[in-house]
Amino acid sequence: MIIIQTVKLHHITQKLKSPFTSSIGYVTDRESILLEVIDPDGISGWGEVVAFSTPWYTEETINTAFHLLKDILIPLILKQPLSHPEQLQAVFNKVKRNYMAKASLEGAIWDLFAKKQGISLATALGGEREEIECGVVIGISSISAMTEQISQYVEEGYKRFKVKISPKQDIKLIEDIRKQFPELPLMADANSAYSLADIDRLKELDQFGLMMIEQPLAADDIIDHAKLQQKLATPICLDESIVTSEDARKAIELGSCRVINIKPGRVGGLTESKKIHDLCQSHKIPVWCGGMLETSISRAHNIALASLANFSIPGDISSSSRYWEEDMVNPEIKAVHGKIAVPKGNGIGFQVSKEIIKKYRHSKTVINSSF
Ligand code: MG
Repeated sequence: MIIIQTVKLHHITQKLKSPFTSSIGYVTDRESILLEVIDPDGISGWGEVVAFSTPWYTEETINTAFHLLKDILIPLILKQPLSHPEQLQAVFNKVKRNYMAKASLEGAIWDLFAKKQGISLATALGGEREEIECGVVIGISSISAMTEQISQYVEEGYKRFKVKISPKQDIKLIEDIRKQFPELPLMADANSAYSLADIDRLKELDQFGLMMIEQPLAADDIIDHAKLQQKLATPICLDESIVTSEDARKAIELGSCRVINIKPGRVGGLTESKKIHDLCQSHKIPVWCGGMLETSISRAHNIALASLANFSIPGDISSSSRYWEEDMVNPEIKAVHGKIAVPKGNGIGFQVSKEIIKKYRHSKTVINSSF
């Protein structure tokens, strides 16, 4: 039985090694809430709120998630002994959306559950891979700076390269990258920067043999994506549009995409991620694990998730040093020749460093059960 006695919310801010730009957001300082659930035996499980400080990716922010956790979700859990983390979906059902807040608590409870079972989180989730292949994301900057970054990451052995695009910088960028790297496993992420009016422009991208184009159209759309996919040879991958397994089912039925990016934070946690994975597998739709400029706590969750069989495309899971001066966990998460070994230790399989958390923490909130 899982009983949560205490939940600690560590509110931190870390500076990114270099600013990260997409078509809709610009991040220099990354605020996060690291969430620690503790059971009566003193065993800790760790999760992370991956919302940003402002609602540029989804409607959630760090502050909305803090409110949801402290005032609504944590009180529900403190009164609710569970035999399995999958039961949390029913507990959280009465709270609409707020997927990142839910996912942080759910992820911490999955970690605690796996630790109590004496198994790795990957095993608890049904993972099969011993190692995962790593991809890297290149934010928007000048074309020369972006190709230079790609050269560096090619040397580091990454297996998939994703560049952020927008109508201000797309065809020329991809053309230049292709000239220099004709065989590179390359994809582009638009973060909803286009509309159906841009169809001819998007069709021009077909000549470059991209693995996929991610979320070209609106975050709340799957109809126009279906129309676009009919006209494009390049597979469409949906990110922002898919927040539940029901969304995934409808998008697959409509033909809105041929690939899905799964981020546990965006879809409310690991249980829903697994559902989307299983659904996509049954429809032969490959999935990969997306990134949120997160700390190694989420990264560890993502590694465990990406060990499931249908995560057949390298995700946004790179070395921690891609973004951070210091890692939150021991041992440091590091891609070697573009691969990361799936840890075999209990739970997330990495030791969370409280010293490092303290260094970046500006507040801590402790919520105790009254059992
Ligand atoms: Mg994306």
